[in-house]
Amino acid sequence: MASIFSRIIAGEIPGKFVYKDELVSAFWDISPRRKVHILIVPNKEIPTVSDVTAEDEAMLGRMFTAARKIAEDLGIADSGYRLIVNCKEHGGQEVYHIHMHLVGGEPVGPFLPKYNPKSEE
Ligand code: AMP
Repeated sequence: MASIFSRIIAGEIPGKFVYKDELVSAFWDISPRRKVHILIVPNKEIPTVSDVTAEDEAMLGRMFTAARKIAEDLGIADSGYRLIVNCKEHGGQEVYHIHMHLVGGEPVGPFLPKYNPKSEE
């Protein structure tokens, strides 16, 4: 079955698009975590980063050039932003169709809490 992102890209369910080309599409996250929260998604359905191959390199590079353009278009290129790609369970991936989160428009906050092995004991 097609992923929810494939269905958005196909126009079967609504999406608020900010960018689209032959390799990637980008639209607003339905549940934004910051003032700006865009998802940059390959048009080809690849489940996770673990599934990419050398053939996908052009598309993967396009995700970054699309991010740069979207940030410029939304006026957040100078203030900066964060790009996040989650992979599988430990990465916190919910939708199994690769995507890059572009978040910003305000300070995003600290990266990750410092690693503390004792907290796992
Ligand atoms: P991840 O946890 O990295 O897989 O992120 C999945 C993201 O997809 C979450 O931030 C969701 O809010 C977002 N999302 C889920 N369904 C939709 C939808 N129909 N339109 C836009 N974003 C969505």
